[in-house]
Amino acid sequence: MATINRNYLKLPGSYLFSTIAKKVAAYSAEHPEADIIRLGIGDVTKPLCPAVIDALHRSVDEMGNPGSFRGYAPDLGYEFLRNTIAEKDYRARGCDISPDEIFVSDGAKSDCSNVQEIFGLDNKIAVCDPVYPVYVDSNVMAGRTGEYNEALGKFENVIYMPCTAANGFVPDIPKEIPDLIYLCYPNNPTGTVIKKDELQRWVDFARKNGSIILYDAAYEAFISEEGVPHSIFECEGARECAIEFKSFSKTAGFTGLRLGYTVIPKDLSAGGEKLWPLWARRHGTKYNGAPYIVQRAGEAIYSGDGRAQVRQQIAGYLENARIISDGLKAAGYEVYGGVNAPYIWMKTKDGMSSWEFFDYLLENLQIVGTPGSGFGPSGEGYFRLTAFGTKENSLKAIERVNGDVTT
Ligand code: PLP
Repeated sequence: MATINRNYLKLPGSYLFSTIAKKVAAYSAEHPEADIIRLGIGDVTKPLCPAVIDALHRSVDEMGNPGSFRGYAPDLGYEFLRNTIAEKDYRARGCDISPDEIFVSDGAKSDCSNVQEIFGLDNKIAVCDPVYPVYVDSNVMAGRTGEYNEALGKFENVIYMPCTAANGFVPDIPKEIPDLIYLCYPNNPTGTVIKKDELQRWVDFARKNGSIILYDAAYEAFISEEGVPHSIFECEGARECAIEFKSFSKTAGFTGLRLGYTVIPKDLSAGGEKLWPLWARRHGTKYNGAPYIVQRAGEAIYSGDGRAQVRQQIAGYLENARIISDGLKAAGYEVYGGVNAPYIWMKTKDGMSSWEFFDYLLENLQIVGTPGSGFGPSGEGYFRLTAFGTKENSLKAIERVNGDVTT
């Protein structure tokens, strides 16, 4: 008789976004005239830039010609893309990463959830709290986390590292030494960053204790301030303790095209065994490569035109973030993030819980955001707004907040 992987039953329901959708649908049904502004979305809204569209058209034409048609992509991804990434994302920043340490994929979500497969089930993971849920859920499915404690909102065998205003949203080094440490900067959901010296402390800690840092830099392209590392490989010794994930999704609007990559240094090992061959084996066995046309589209964002166009898109989202963040601050809110990331993380009004504030914003200002408690217990009392909407809606939302304060 077939049986199931019972670890899946340990996952609490995907309560956050389904509850939000239900609440918004119920409100809309009761108030069909309401002009709801959605600042909860984590998806981009700007179309692909012209350089990407040109590359797609050209490569689609190539696929229709016998002389230039391509079938399966090489296991690690096409060399033209890996060479460009190694040069522009790493060597240009002084990071010693070679093209064959780059694994091209269909995005960071798949990679940061699948990477745990190459580690033993006895590894203990540490995550930031609040957290991008994929890190925890993928480890739950693998059976690495123990049971969920409903009252605490935590899995019993996971080290949760609180990230709050008190520690600048950078976790303190935990007392118990984790085997795998998930870090994500610029951070989702808090929109905050880690400074180079702070990240170096984590690298030093991991090296000393034989831990591996799984570094999610999906929002790297939004970094606008000096002193914020664009890659963990800017830190000394990171090649000995880190894996990095990057995504074209938020960088260049590829959420629908799907492209990302993972960097595993050849010298990186765990328990005396190299990790590169394991991931190469996993990649080759379970994945058949991002489409040729998408890899060509990815290459195009590194061209002169592509780079300028993508920067302009990001500047537009960061301008929305500034509008929202400045507007909230002027209205008296405590606000974080939004400078090097498309996320604004705010304290709720008058000590409301995250969900109370969700209802308050929906019912009084017709604004939808995401309750911080949905990302982990330390998110309680916080709320996430995103800058992925239009400028018009960002301005309109702040007008409503101002109206709320003055009435
Ligand atoms: N990592 C973080 C922190 C994210 O917030 C997201 C998407 O929201 C992803 C990864 C997923 O990226 P991709 O679209 O490349 O799968």
